[in-house]
Amino acid sequence: MPEGHSVHRIARQFALHFTGVPVSVTSPQGRFAADAALLDGHTIVSARAVGKQMFLEFDHGLWLRVHLGLYGAWDFAGDVSLGRHGETLRPSIGAPRLTRLRMSEQEKVGEDVDAFPPDPIGQVRVRLLTPTVVGDLRGPTACEVQTGEEVQASIGKLGPDPLVDDLGEAEERFVWTVRKKPTPIALLLMDQSVVGGIGNVYRAELLFRARQNPFTPGREVREEVVRALWRDWVQLLRIGFETGLMYTMDDEASGGVPQHWVYKRTGEPCLLCGTPIQMQELGARKLYWCPTDQA
Ligand SMILES: [Zn+2]
Repeated sequence: MPEGHSVHRIARQFALHFTGVPVSVTSPQGRFAADAALLDGHTIVSARAVGKQMFLEFDHGLWLRVHLGLYGAWDFAGDVSLGRHGETLRPSIGAPRLTRLRMSEQEKVGEDVDAFPPDPIGQVRVRLLTPTVVGDLRGPTACEVQTGEEVQASIGKLGPDPLVDDLGEAEERFVWTVRKKPTPIALLLMDQSVVGGIGNVYRAELLFRARQNPFTPGREVREEVVRALWRDWVQLLRIGFETGLMYTMDDEASGGVPQHWVYKRTGEPCLLCGTPIQMQELGARKLYWCPTDQA
């Protein structure tokens, strides 16, 4: 599932390349046709990500809310931003190319586009098209048109997001929420009403980095550890947003390539203590941890 950094990068893609011009909005698969017609021909004036959700604001006061969920993805073609810091990569010589880029939990550059716009492939819920760029959404958990009030209500249900909210206030809100709950900390970190954007990879890695037992009820986790978890999330989210990669190890420990302490390492030796990494289903998602370092 795309975690917060991916959704923020997708919102930046829209902010950079889809704003300021009228957008053709259609539903090639037909399922979203009536709603697409409400937005068709209007101009996107802002693109925001909060947690794992994205909100596109149109110039007549309506919004498009998208939650990619487990299987959703955006396929872009045309003018797109790629690379470490989202810079636009332009060919240095020859005819201008039109790039194809898939953005989901990972980012993958596809074959160049010969004719623009390319035909939609497969079940495209919504297609956003400008003269220079196209975005095809497939497989989202949520895709709906909202009014400004409805957007406020949607955002109001979400916990703090380090790339959106005032960091001081957000930390207090996170600490206060976690420390009154009997729920295991591993579930609280994935609860989007407690904190925005954390998914399965960052959850496992944050808990390992804090040497925190995943099953400790939130209200029994020491306050300094809860604060450390928040501050670590602020840092990891920023790195993920800038690089598009989920770095959870320092360069010295990882050799410069993204790899993880515990995520998807069931049975392999802990990189610190050698104990086999454990895995257990919790809340229908796989949880990974080191039973020694996170005792
Ligand atoms: Zn260990």
